[in-house]
Amino acid sequence: MMQPASSWIDQFGRQKRKLRISVTDRCNFKCLYCMPEHPEWMDKHSLLSFEDLYAFCQFMVERGIDSLRITGGEPLMRQGVVHFIEQLQSLRALGLKRIAMTSNGHYLTKYADALKQAGLDDLNISLDSVDSQLFQQLTQRELAPVLAGIAAAQQAGLSIKINTVLMQGINDSQILPLVAWAKQQQLPLRFIEYMPLDGDAQWQRQQVVTEQQILQQLAPHYQIEALPQDQSPARIYRLDQTYDVGIISTISHAFCGQCDRIRLTAQGELYNCLFAPQGIALKSEIQALAAHSDVARDQLQQRIAEYIWYKKSGFHAIHAQAHSPRKISMHMLGG
Ligand code: SAM
Ligand code: SF4
Repeated sequence: MMQPASSWIDQFGRQKRKLRISVTDRCNFKCLYCMPEHPEWMDKHSLLSFEDLYAFCQFMVERGIDSLRITGGEPLMRQGVVHFIEQLQSLRALGLKRIAMTSNGHYLTKYADALKQAGLDDLNISLDSVDSQLFQQLTQRELAPVLAGIAAAQQAGLSIKINTVLMQGINDSQILPLVAWAKQQQLPLRFIEYMPLDGDAQWQRQQVVTEQQILQQLAPHYQIEALPQDQSPARIYRLDQTYDVGIISTISHAFCGQCDRIRLTAQGELYNCLFAPQGIALKSEIQALAAHSDVARDQLQQRIAEYIWYKKSGFHAIHAQAHSPRKISMHMLGG
């Protein structure tokens, strides 16, 4: 297939519509499956400013991106992020349909109302245990502020989903308690298979709790019905005809066939895939774009279109070829 002149489409015909922006790599948590033991934070002065990020988002929305997700590190640790979300509202006139955030929930008692007022459409909150001791073990932080944050987000009227990463022998004991809790709270819950994106590259396949294993744990307690799959990467299962649980099984059933996502790090590196061995550094062009340079606009158009075009078919194609661990992990890519 020939590369088309201008659109965010890859060689497999997958149009990119979703852009994830990491606004910081910093985080107050130290999740076992994400943060390195000794994180080396990006220099704060090296991050793209919100003006730069706004210019980039506008550029991307004008070319077909219709959904933005703000992530991190912990996005609520970056000063000014709520105001940034407010500013992004003006891109709806250009075709932006959805502004979302992924957060660990710790600061939500402070920010939930402001996020709602700023026009946030969706909020994903990570919660890997409802047992406070295990939560502490997993994140090195307390559970109580997160539960209070979730309650504040519900109170504020935000649309919430709970995301849980499972690790074999660590928190697979939480499958049933989390389902019971989320069902009782009437909150959508999605389990995510542990991916080889941890900061210290310690991932091993046997640590993954697979979709099948999750279903095996649920089966004695619920009547399970698989629902037809839509565009989302999660497979949805209806429990007792009343409550839906999602499972994102990147490892056991990669969902790459329809992938419409790309990602930008806080320092302006674009990744065409979570598992891409390399991104492209766009910081200087994005800064020039924000300063209204037409040359930068043309360069960005060309470089991004070409990079997206060569996106690989998916996780298995990349993982099979990977020889050395990458320098980038989930706390920089944002999930
Ligand atoms: N700090 C925020 C949070 O935890 O929600 C946003 C950033 S975090 C990197 C985004 C998502 O990536 C979270 O849902 C987290 O659980 C998930 N994640 C991190 N490392 C992962 C891994 N190795 N495998 C699967 N998911 C992972
Ligand atoms: Fe922080 Fe989120 Fe990574 Fe946990 S998953 S360490 S909360 S960035």
